[in-house]
Amino acid sequence: MNAQATGVPKPIITQDNSFFFEAAAAGRLEVQRCTQCSELRHPPAPCCASCQSFEWDTVTCAMRGTLYSYTIAHRPQDSAFEYPHAIALVDLEEGVRIVADVFDSDHTALVEGAPMDIVIREHPHGTMLPSVRIAQEVAE
Ligand SMILES: [Zn+2]
Repeated sequence: MNAQATGVPKPIITQDNSFFFEAAAAGRLEVQRCTQCSELRHPPAPCCASCQSFEWDTVTCAMRGTLYSYTIAHRPQDSAFEYPHAIALVDLEEGVRIVADVFDSDHTALVEGAPMDIVIREHPHGTMLPSVRIAQEVAE
């Protein structure tokens, strides 16, 4: 039984992160790239941590990564989520790390280094966001 629902807060959209949500709404995962030094960064930020440039564009990611770490939340519970709720840190092929919820995966099969797929899904607050699952085998 779930505790009292607090509701899932909606993301706060700013001029620095709106590209991320617009891309996700279109089914893509995009990260920022500094146009001065080419460093990729996530989460979105106004300034490059490597060279302090405010100039950036975006890169569309391949939707594949590797599980860096994860946690499985059991409580406190909110009716907006299903429990146990797995949350992962995934290193994208492009070289940046994202945090995302895990879906459609056996939690006992989560191991660091596992190949992961990134899938854009609608979240409880109605926003499209990346989620991750253990990579599906490709039929050959
Ligand atoms: Zn830079």
